[in-house]
Amino acid sequence: MKLAELPRVGPKTLALLAKLGLHSVEDLLLHLPLRYEDRTRLTPLAEIPAGTGARFCVQLIEAKQQFGGRRSLRLAVRDDSGEAAIRLFHFRREQLAQYQPGSWWLCWGELREGRWGRECVHPQMQVVPGPQALPELGRHLTPVYPSTQGLGQARWLSLMERALPKAEDLFPELVQDGPESTVAQALRCLHRPPVDRPERMHAARQRLAFEELLAQRLAVLRGRARLSHRQARACAPDAALLARWKQALPFALTPAQKQVLEEVQADLGRNQPMLRLVQGDVGAGKTVIAAGAALQVLGSGGQVALMAPTEILARQHAATLATWLEPLGFAVVLLTGAQTAAQKREALAQLELDAPLLVVGTQALFQEPVRFAGLGLVLVDEQHRFGVGQRLALRDKGGEFVAHQLILTATPIPRTLAQTIYADLDVSQMSGLPPGRQPVQTVAMAQSRRPEVVQRLGAVCADGAQAFWVCPALSETDFATAAEDILELLRESLPHLQIGLLHGQLKGPDKLAVMQDFREGKLAILVATTVIEVGVDVPNATIIIIDEAERLGLAQLHQLRGRVGRGSAQSYCVLLYKPPLAETARARLQALCEIQDGFALAEADLELRGPGELLGTAQSGEQRLRFADALFDTALLPQVVHSAEHLLQTRPELAATLVRRWLGQKADYAEV
Ligand code: ADP
Ligand code: MG
Repeated sequence: MKLAELPRVGPKTLALLAKLGLHSVEDLLLHLPLRYEDRTRLTPLAEIPAGTGARFCVQLIEAKQQFGGRRSLRLAVRDDSGEAAIRLFHFRREQLAQYQPGSWWLCWGELREGRWGRECVHPQMQVVPGPQALPELGRHLTPVYPSTQGLGQARWLSLMERALPKAEDLFPELVQDGPESTVAQALRCLHRPPVDRPERMHAARQRLAFEELLAQRLAVLRGRARLSHRQARACAPDAALLARWKQALPFALTPAQKQVLEEVQADLGRNQPMLRLVQGDVGAGKTVIAAGAALQVLGSGGQVALMAPTEILARQHAATLATWLEPLGFAVVLLTGAQTAAQKREALAQLELDAPLLVVGTQALFQEPVRFAGLGLVLVDEQHRFGVGQRLALRDKGGEFVAHQLILTATPIPRTLAQTIYADLDVSQMSGLPPGRQPVQTVAMAQSRRPEVVQRLGAVCADGAQAFWVCPALSETDFATAAEDILELLRESLPHLQIGLLHGQLKGPDKLAVMQDFREGKLAILVATTVIEVGVDVPNATIIIIDEAERLGLAQLHQLRGRVGRGSAQSYCVLLYKPPLAETARARLQALCEIQDGFALAEADLELRGPGELLGTAQSGEQRLRFADALFDTALLPQVVHSAEHLLQTRPELAATLVRRWLGQKADYAEV
C-alpha cells in the first residue's frame, strides 16, 4: 500500500520517509521504535532520578530572562515535593506572555544538576488547567522512533496511528506454525506496548524474528536451487603478481592471514562458485584478504565488486585498495549513492568495458542499473547490512558465470545460525591480531568527569595524539545538538587544537574531506556519530571517547573501540556515562573494560542481555537481521528449518510472498 494513500501524508513527509528507506505502509509498520518511555505516570519532582526522562506536573513561580553567556529563559517551578527550574534556549519574545506565574504545566523531560540547582532543559511542555485536571496519560509506553531531521516524534506517533489499522490487511498470516501471536498483533504491540503487559513484547519480537529467519532461509534455498547448475570462472593464481603485491605491502602477512588467503585462493581456482565467510575480530586485518582475493581474479582478467555498508568505509577501501592495486595496473572505481549523476554514469560506463577492474561501492551497487562486463568475485565487507537477496543478486551479475563470493565480518556468528540461513557457506576463522598490538586500555567514567577528560585529551593531543569523540544519537537531529555542545566545549577548552565534525548527513565529498584531514593529521580530534563504527581505519588515532556509552550495546561498543589500537602505540578508550547506571548497563561497561576479545565479549553479551531486550537488537549495529537476534534467536532455528521445508513442499507460492515481505523489494533481484 502506498504511503500517499494514508490520510494527510503529503509530498514533504513522503520525501522524509523515503530518506529513511520507507516507501510503503508496510515499510512504515516495520519501522520499529528504538526504545520506549513510560509517560503514563507522574513523578514528584523530588523523586526524579537525574538523567532519566520523567513526566511531571509543576506550577510556574516566575519566568526570568538570563543574558550572561547563551541567552536563555529560566522558569522557576515547583510541585508539592520540591522546586526545580526549566531552561529554554530557543524562544520568541511573543511567547513570554504565556509563562504566567501560577500557571500549571505538564512536562516530559530529564532533570540535571545545573549551576543553580536541578534543571530541565527544553522539556516537552503543555499548559494545563491544574494538577487535578490533567489529560488522559494513557496505558501504553511511548515509542521513540529512529528518525531524520524534520520528522519529530509526534509526527511518527500520528503516522503510526493511521497505519496500524491497516496491519491486518497488509500482513495477513502466512505461516501457522511459528510462535504465538500474529504478525499484525505483534506489530501493534511493538508500536504501542501496553504498559502492564511487558511479556507481550517478547512474544511479539519472537514472531517477527521467526518470520524473518524463515524468509532468509527460503531466499537462500531458492537462490541456491537457481544457481546450483551454474559455474563460476576458475581463476588460477598468478604467483609473480601476488609476490609483487606482497612485497609492496607495508607489513608481512600474519600466519592467520596467510592461511585464510590460501583457503580463498584454492576456492577461486575452482569453477564451483565460492561462498566463504571470513570471521576475524575488529582490527584483525581482513582487508588484506579481500585485496589478495581481488588480485587473483583481476590477474586472470575478471572484474571484482567490493560492497561496504557505509559511504565512509567505501571511500576508505577504495583509497586503500587503489594504493595496493593500481601500481600493479588495475583500476579502482568508486560507486556510491552520494555521488553525482555524472560520476555514477562514468563509473557505470567503466564497468561495462571488458577490463579487469575493482569497483568499490555501497548499496548503490544494486540500485543502479549496473552491468558488469565480467564479474568474477563479489567481496562483501561487514555484510550484516546487506540482505541475502542483495548478495545473491550481485552474484548473478557475472554474465555467463556466477561470481565467487567472499564475506568479511567481525561479528561472531554462531555456526548454527550461519548454517541455517546461509546454508552452503564455508567459514574461515582468522584468529588473533597482527603482531605488536597492545590491548586498548579501557575505562568507564561518569560524565561529570568530562572536564578532566577534556584536559587530559588536550595535553596528549598537543603532543601529537589523535582522538575520536563519539556522540551516539538516536536521530541526526538529536546528534546535531549533542555534537554541537561537545564541539563548542572542546573548541572553547582546547583552542590550540584543530577539531572536525563528521556525521551521516554530510555530503559524500565533505565526509571524505573531513576523514582525509583526520587521516593526514590535520585534525587532532574528530567529533563523530557512530558512522565511524564499522571498519574505519586511521592507525594514528589512539584515543576514543564514547559519550553516553550506556546507550550502546556491547557489540557496537566493541566495534567503536576497534577504531583505535590499530597500530603499535598504546591506545585508550574512555566510556563516559550518565549516572545512575542501570545494573545491566554497568555490567556491560565493566565487561568492556575487562575483555578485549570480540568472541569473549559476544558471550558476555549473551549472558548480560535478557531475552527480548529490544535495545540490544535495534542498536547493536551488528544487525545482519533487522528483527531477529543472531545470538538470542538460535532457539528458533530448528523450527525455521522445518517450516521452510514444509512450506516449499506444500505452499511454494507463499515463499515468494514471505521473502518479499521480510527482505524487501531488493529480494526480487534474486528472482531475475
Ligand atoms: P579489519 O579486520 O578490522 O578490517 P583492517 O583490515 O582494517 O582490519 O586492518 C587493521 C589495521 O591493521 C590496518 O591499519 C592494516 O593496515 C593493519 N594490518 C593488517 N594486517 C597487518 C599485518 N599483517 N601486520 C601489521 N599490520 C597489519
Ligand atoms: Mg574492516
